[in-house]
Amino acid sequence: MAKGIWIFAEHRDGKIKKVTLELLSAGRKLATETGEEVSALLFGKGVSGLASTLAEYGADKVYLADDDMLAQYTTDAYSKALGDLIMEKEPSVLLLGCTVLGRDLAARVAQKVKTCLMSDCTGVELSGGQLVFVRPVYAGKAFVKAVCPELKPVMATVRPNVLTADEPRAGRGAEVVNVAVHLEKTDLRQVIKDVVMQISTRPELTEANIIVSGGRGMKGPENYKILEELADVLGAAVGASRAAVDSGWIPQSFQVGQTGKTVSPALYIACGISGSTMHLAGMSSSKCIVAINKDPEADIFKVADYGIVGDLFEVVPLLTEECKKL
Ligand code: FAD
Repeated sequence: MAKGIWIFAEHRDGKIKKVTLELLSAGRKLATETGEEVSALLFGKGVSGLASTLAEYGADKVYLADDDMLAQYTTDAYSKALGDLIMEKEPSVLLLGCTVLGRDLAARVAQKVKTCLMSDCTGVELSGGQLVFVRPVYAGKAFVKAVCPELKPVMATVRPNVLTADEPRAGRGAEVVNVAVHLEKTDLRQVIKDVVMQISTRPELTEANIIVSGGRGMKGPENYKILEELADVLGAAVGASRAAVDSGWIPQSFQVGQTGKTVSPALYIACGISGSTMHLAGMSSSKCIVAINKDPEADIFKVADYGIVGDLFEVVPLLTEECKKL
């Protein structure tokens, strides 16, 4: 019988990602009700030191796959290693972050182990003994509750920042199980280029608590400076609409929306963004939305918690000065 709640652990630069800690806390809550064990899956090379963090945030067991071939993420290697492990251990649930890596890996693994995948979830709960996933549909205009009663494991990707990570319990331990990885070099596509690093002291867009985002109203790339100044005062990430990206003002990795990143920060400040359905699809689950737009009829005000009708070139610098005083 399938057993165990599994969380795929994402890490970067020797640190476990926040979304993994959020998923571990969700896993613990499910485990309290189902009596199952929570296991974290730690893949990479030289990553065993991260097992203690996973334990402190709620893992009972850590499956550690430490292998040269897993030193860097590749779809082939990770999906093969994870697929093999699922078929051997038969967990009941597998949760991954809805990140670039999580989305890529989850789809391939679900296909390999022939199970269902609930993608882009904003909630996970147990109801009447069944695991229920909350998912946005129609570009975030509505939410559905979905269940997957037949297939195992039930797999889901969950957006960063929609769940809350509990405080770690210092000294909490977990059993570490070494996983043998059966990979042939010839099976794998070669990664020609390493991960492109964005040298920035700002938080990553999908994990940021605060995002300051600019659209076509920014009028040019040079004006992003005023958003960056506000972002730095707030400890925020910078985002953009597709109009700004398509104009070549800012790289695509900053794009928020249906064809960009999905974000759920505590605070989203939209500057010179009209509020198209495509943009809202990526940010409408933000906990608090502030819109700065000179057009009082702009659609963004329909979803904003606070709206400022005005010229962003006057409002944003004023906001930065006020925030510096806090
Ligand atoms: P606009 O709609 O042109 O709005 C600019 C706003 O700035 C206006 O409301 C204006 O009043 C305001 N403004 C101008 N000057 C100032 C000023 N000085 N001070 C204050 N306000 C000012 N879009 C995304 O964002 N993300 C996506 O992922 C995405 N995916 C798409 C996928 C597809 C298949 C398609 C067809 C479109 C997609 N789009 C996406 C594009 C989307 O439809 C909109 O065109 C885009 O979001 C508009 O960007 P914007 O709000 O910056 O520009």
